[in-house]
Amino acid sequence: MPELPEVENVARSLKPLEGKRLARLEVIDARVWFESQLDPLHFHRLSLSEVARRGKYLVLRFSPEHVIVQHLRMTGKMLDDGSALLPALLREDPEGPKRLQIRARFHFDQRPMIFFDPRRFGTLTAIADEDAFFAEKGIAPDPIHQEPAARQLFLKRLKDSERPIKPFLLDQSLAAGIGNIYADEALHREGIHPETPAHKVKHPERLWETVLEILARSIEAGGSSIIDYVNAEGLRGSFSAQHLVYGREGEECVSCRAPIRRIVLGGRSTHFCLHCQPKRFRRR
Ligand SMILES: [Zn+2]
Repeated sequence: MPELPEVENVARSLKPLEGKRLARLEVIDARVWFESQLDPLHFHRLSLSEVARRGKYLVLRFSPEHVIVQHLRMTGKMLDDGSALLPALLREDPEGPKRLQIRARFHFDQRPMIFFDPRRFGTLTAIADEDAFFAEKGIAPDPIHQEPAARQLFLKRLKDSERPIKPFLLDQSLAAGIGNIYADEALHREGIHPETPAHKVKHPERLWETVLEILARSIEAGGSSIIDYVNAEGLRGSFSAQHLVYGREGEECVSCRAPIRRIVLGGRSTHFCLHCQPKRFRRR
């Protein structure tokens, strides 16, 4: 699942669409039009005013009352229609058995785009009030675009929470868009054991700063390409080369050469170095 830096890169790669008129929006797989308050027809002949990101969501703003929130999920990509990144089978036979993998077609003037999504978990949600939508979903403010609101909420909730810090970081109602890779990397850089109760983290402000720094560095590196992520130009990110713990189970810790461990915490695989991130708290 792409996390904040990957979605940020997708959003940036789609910036050239801003100002373009959408002649028509063709929903091919009806399932993609998920929890929408508006009909695709409502977007016809509107110009795309801004491509943005909130947490892990792409936000296509046509007007304050015409917004499409897009969730890429596992395999969703926005590509040029007929892109060389499409499997040959689909390029040659767009009406064939795999036709629903092109889930929607955005007929922008001069630049038709497709939402290509082989596993078909991605969604397009058309809404008339963006802030109300995110409030209703319980998504926290965005750590990059909505500071200091994001930091204030995070620090306030952390103080009172006994949950282990790792699942705390992943909770989208507390911090939007961080995700598994960046949570593991931030905790490692701060020397915090992932099971530490949130309220026992000694320097929560420093942890937040580290999270922001890792997100910023990953955005600059184009994100972490694991599994299937590419931006609209088909470019893959290179931040995975900078991972110190994520996906490195059994390898030597870069700092101390102890083996990187992997545990499952809150249902998610969690990578850390017990030597650099010792347990400094007592279990109750
Ligand atoms: Zn270590």
